[in-house]
Formats: sequence, C-alpha cells, structure tokens
Amino acid sequence: MKIEDLIRPNLKKLVPYSSARNEFSGSEALFLDANENPYNNGVNRYPDPLQNRLKAELAKVKGVKPEQIIIGNGSDEILDLIFRAFCRPSIDNCIILPPTYGMYRVLSTLNDIECIACPLNPDFSFNIERIIKSVKENTKIIFICSPNNPTGNCISIAELVEILDVFEGIVVLDEAYIDFSDQASAAGLLEKYPTLLIVQTLSKAYGAAGLRIGFGLGNWEIITILNRIKPPYNINSLSQEKALSLLQNEYVYKANLQQLQVDKLKLEQAFLQMQFVQHIFPSEANFFLVRVKDSKVTYNYLKEQGIIVRERSHELYCENCLRITIGTTQENEKLIKVMNNFNQINR
Ligand SMILES: *Cc1c(COP(=O)(O)O)cnc(C)c1O
Repeated sequence: MKIEDLIRPNLKKLVPYSSARNEFSGSEALFLDANENPYNNGVNRYPDPLQNRLKAELAKVKGVKPEQIIIGNGSDEILDLIFRAFCRPSIDNCIILPPTYGMYRVLSTLNDIECIACPLNPDFSFNIERIIKSVKENTKIIFICSPNNPTGNCISIAELVEILDVFEGIVVLDEAYIDFSDQASAAGLLEKYPTLLIVQTLSKAYGAAGLRIGFGLGNWEIITILNRIKPPYNINSLSQEKALSLLQNEYVYKANLQQLQVDKLKLEQAFLQMQFVQHIFPSEANFFLVRVKDSKVTYNYLKEQGIIVRERSHELYCENCLRITIGTTQENEKLIKVMNNFNQINR
C-alpha cells in the first residue's frame, strides 16, 4: 500500500494557504507583505509557519532529518491532523488498545471515525495476534501508546514490527513518555517502514506542558501531507523560541530525568510498604499505576489532604487503580507522609 493511496481523496485537490513568508527565507528585508504592525514589541511578526530553526534542532536531538518532522500545537494537534489526513468521516475506522490515552477516542468521535477497541491483555501486555485480527475493511490507523498511559508498560520493537509487517494502514506510535524509558525510541524503524508515524512531545520529559509543542516523526510523504493541512501559524513565536532554548539546554533536561528516576524508585519502595497497596504495575514512565484496597476512599483522603492523583478505576482492568505522577522530592515526601497516615487509619 502506498501512502498516496491512503490519503483522503478531498485532500488531493487542496491548495494550501500560502503565506508570503513561505516564499522568502532571508531576514534583511522590509516586510510589507502581511499587514503586520511594523513596531517591534517582540511578537509583531507572524511566526515561521514551518518552524525551521526548531526543526533543525529537533532533527539533531532525535537523529532524523528536518523533512521527517511535523510540529504541532501539542501532540494532540498532530493526532487530530492524522485523522483528517487519512480517515474519511463515517466510512473509515481506527483501532485503539484500551486501557490507553483518552484523546484517541475523543478525536475519532470528533472526526466521525469509528473507534474499534482491541483490549490489552489483563496484565497490560500487548496482544499482537488480536490486534492484527481486529483490522477490518477501512481500518486506516492503529494507535499504540508506548510507554502506555495509564499502565506504564512498553511494546517491544519486535512486537511493533510484527504489526508493521502486515498492517496496510498507518501505525501511530505515541512515545510521549519514551525519554523516561529504558527502551529506545522506535525512530530507527522509520527508514524501513514508511507507514509508521511516531508522536512525541515536549510536555513531559522536557517539562514544557505549557508551551504546547508536540511533534511527529515519519516518512517524508506522511510529513508532507500533515504539513500541508495544518493551520499555517500553528506554533506561536514565543513557543518556538522557548522550545529551541529548552532543547539546547540538555544539561537541565538530563538532570531532571535522573532525579525523577531516583525519586520514582523511592516512591515505589515506600508504597510497597503500605498495607492497603496491593500491586504496583512496573512503569517506564514518570508515573505509575497502583492498585489499592479501595481507590475511591484513598483518592478522597488524598484530596482532603490537598494531593490530587488520577483515579483510573473505570478503565478496563484498572479496578481500584490510581495513577500517580512523580513530583519533586519534597512533594513525594509529603505524599508518603500522608499515605502513611492513611495506612495507620486503615489498619
Ligand atoms: C501527555 C500525553 C501526550 C501529550 O500531549 P500534548 O498535547 O503534547 O501535551 C500525548 N500522548 C499521551 C499518551 C500523553 O499521556
């Protein structure tokens, strides 16, 4: 299957909005083309629509070519663009692997695309055979989240390849948490598998959830179509600048990652000592899923003490589970203290 044959027919006719700045790349010029206000206040000019400086830096950090990158206003924008590029409303469908990130379903509904749920195994491992079997006519996308939110486990490269080898549509691999993981990114597969699109974000490991910068890494053909259909100025100039400086400041990024790793282990150890904790699911992310005796009671107690965690009980196979994000060392110590008090009460 060629990428070209997967693209929605209406997009083949699309003439993208062309900004004058697309056609000129110098900086020493009089810009009288875009009806901007000429008085410099730092943001009076439209941002670079293709984010070329940011892409050059991302390409270096991620080991890909700039032509293999699409940048979105958060990875949620990339996910939405993928639906718009490949799925015909009320005809096509996608596959998700619950329990997983909620936005895949929200965006499929928004785009009027049927969402086929193919559950993970009860221990949250990936059931590759079942995933391949649930592909139907007009299945255009399979969403795989690895490390998976909320469970924290990864798909292996071998399992991913099994899917890529047989599925004829687009495989979206959401690697929002990959920088926390021992497993390497699947970016090495991009050359061989043109239907793979990897989605990452600066929201988690890079500590920039407020910037709204997500990005897709893929074959140039997929990237070209996504770039054509995205809103022209989707990343504002302040976010582009700040993202660039965060990527260049590798030292802070690495120090934070290391601290979170150490603190996660400590937090997990402390939790294991508590009687109401029944199971901690092994996690490759900056959170872990924990099964407790009664998640509602635990959640409410924490909330009364001013600590907000995520209750995931209603998700498949997540009965009595809380998802806990690793905080600063002090925040984690406060959590442990409060949990110990709760443990005393619940003996
Ligand atoms: C947090 C998260 C994202 C990030 O979304 P942004 O829009 O980039 O902030 C993407 N996927 C998953 C699974 C997440 O948990």
